[in-house]
Amino acid sequence: MSVRPGVIERYREFLPITEKTPLISLGEGSTPMVLSENIGPRLGCKALYFKLEGCNPTGSFKDRGMVLAVAKALEAGKRRIVCASTGNTSAAAAAYGARYGLETIVLVPSGEIALGKLAQAMAYGARILAVNGSFDDAMTTVIDIVDAIDAELVNSVNKYRIEGQKTGAFEIVEDLGDAPDMMCLPVGNAGNITAYWKGYKEAQTRGMARSLPRLMGFQAAGAAPIVLGKRVAHPETIATAIRIGNPASWKTAVEARDESGGLIDKVEDREIIDAYLMLARDEGIFCEPASAASVAGLLRLGELGVDVAGKTIVCILTGNGLKDPGTAEKRALVELEYVEPDLESVVNLLKKH
Ligand SMILES: *Cc1c(COP(=O)(O)O)cnc(C)c1O
Repeated sequence: MSVRPGVIERYREFLPITEKTPLISLGEGSTPMVLSENIGPRLGCKALYFKLEGCNPTGSFKDRGMVLAVAKALEAGKRRIVCASTGNTSAAAAAYGARYGLETIVLVPSGEIALGKLAQAMAYGARILAVNGSFDDAMTTVIDIVDAIDAELVNSVNKYRIEGQKTGAFEIVEDLGDAPDMMCLPVGNAGNITAYWKGYKEAQTRGMARSLPRLMGFQAAGAAPIVLGKRVAHPETIATAIRIGNPASWKTAVEARDESGGLIDKVEDREIIDAYLMLARDEGIFCEPASAASVAGLLRLGELGVDVAGKTIVCILTGNGLKDPGTAEKRALVELEYVEPDLESVVNLLKKH
């Protein structure tokens, strides 16, 4: 439990829980919706909001689904959870697993995980298996072993993950009083776009929202199977959280795109980094590279023939920038300015440009 209700308690009537489901929480959900000061006005949006999912307890939206998956695993009497991960799923699994006494086993692609995410899984005490292969190889392996090791699978193929993640849509609808015109988000394994669409549709059915948004999903150009319409054997992008060549929720992502009248397109790594630095420098928001794909995509919508002027738009910033300090260090191109610790030295240095 947490003092502020977590997503299970806050949205219990919308979630598949029973009297036996423990109302566990690490304080996930209720994340800030921050109005854009600079990017939105430049684009002529009526209002552009950033939903800061990096403010969740383990620093990404994965906590919303993980809390429910772990609650259901506890309800079923499981002792062990397992997942494949590009990093954030393993951090979330390891945190909730640690808190509620479950052994957590994570399979990560060897050498492809951002430092902050790996540090989290280590600190929470998960067993970390570094697979000699890609995320997609790790995912296939997990599905093969899950029964043999008597564990609960907590990847987003676990339906409770999607159920928990749909609460992001409820929060947006509550904050805005209705659905936005459009919502932009990164697409990797495609669970989140699936979950948001489910959430918005339920919000409308239950009278919380009158309208539905167009969902605008963005994959990295080097890892864009849905855009290309075929699997990518060797996905490549700086945005490790969306470096996925064969998304588990491919079909439902396409449905979300088509039913919402939205699109799924791709953005180059260069555009991702530009958006990542723009968010930090024009908005004061430090998100991880994958998250910035939503804003990189927003900036491309004009080119794609979508008018953003006068629209209310929400970009989901899926994870915290501190997850991946290496990218900031390499891409921000800021050098330390060394100085002696006295007034004259500092003043003289600041006079130079
Ligand atoms: C998992 C993740 C994504 C991709 O979400 P999917 O549900 O796999 O499409 C994007 N950004 C971050 C930070 C993530 O952790």
